[in-house]
Amino acid sequence: MTKRLEEIELLAESGKLLADVFGYLDTLSLIGMSTMQVNDMVDSLIVDEFKARPASKGQYGYAYALNASRNNVVCHGVPSTTDVLRSGDIVNFDITLEKNGYIADSSKTYLVGEVSPLAKRLVQVTYEAMWKGIRAVRPGARLGDVGHAIERHARRNGYSVVREYCGHGIGREMHEDPQVLHWGKPKTGLMLREGMVFTIEPMFNQGRSAVWTEEDGWTVVTRDGQLSAQFEHTVAVTRNGVRVLTLRPGETMLN
Ligand code: MN
Repeated sequence: MTKRLEEIELLAESGKLLADVFGYLDTLSLIGMSTMQVNDMVDSLIVDEFKARPASKGQYGYAYALNASRNNVVCHGVPSTTDVLRSGDIVNFDITLEKNGYIADSSKTYLVGEVSPLAKRLVQVTYEAMWKGIRAVRPGARLGDVGHAIERHARRNGYSVVREYCGHGIGREMHEDPQVLHWGKPKTGLMLREGMVFTIEPMFNQGRSAVWTEEDGWTVVTRDGQLSAQFEHTVAVTRNGVRVLTLRPGETMLN
C-alpha cells in the first residue's frame, strides 16, 4: 500500500499537470458554456498539450475526461451539450490525469458568475473541511483522525457529509486501497505510514446526506434537491507530514 520515493515523484508530475488543468479552468468565465465544451477543452489540453491521458476515459465504461456536477448533483455528473452553466450555479469538475503510468485525481467546485451567499458558504466550508482533513495526515495518525476532522467541520457549520462515496488510494490504478472515509472517530482506523498515497474528497450537502443515482446510472443527486459541493486533492504521507501532489497555482498548505 506504500509507494517508493520514485513513484511518488512520478505521481507528483501527474499531479502538477492536473493542477495546471485547474489553473486553466480558473481563467474561464464558464457562464454560457456547456459542460461538454468544458470537457472537450480539458480533454485536448491533457492529450495534446500535456501528452497525458484523462484516466476516467474507459474506466468503468465512462467516455469523458471529467465529471461535471452542478448544483444538486453530488458527483459523477456526465458532461452534456444541454447542460449550460448559468450565473448563480456552483459546479464541480472532477478530473483524473495519467502520465507515465501514474494517476492523479483532483476536483474543485467553481462559482459561476454571481452566486448566492448561502451557496458560497457551502463551497467555502467544504473547501476548508478538505484542508482540515489534509492537515490531519502524518505518519502515525489514523484515517479516523482525517475523517473526524472533516465531519466535525460539517457538523459545526450545519452541513451533512455524503456517506456513499469516499477517498481512495491511488497510483497505477485510479482506485486502490485504502478507502478514506470523510467521517470517523479519532484514534481509530488504519495507521498512516510514509509512502501512502490517497485522495481526500469530501462531499457536503446543504440539507440531508441522502443521495440518489439517476436513470443514466452515473449522475448522483441529493434526494432533497438541495445543493452539494466537493473538493479533492491527492496527497502523499511524507516522513514528517503530508505532501499535496495536486496543489494548484495560488494554493498553499495554509489554506
Ligand atoms: Mn477520487
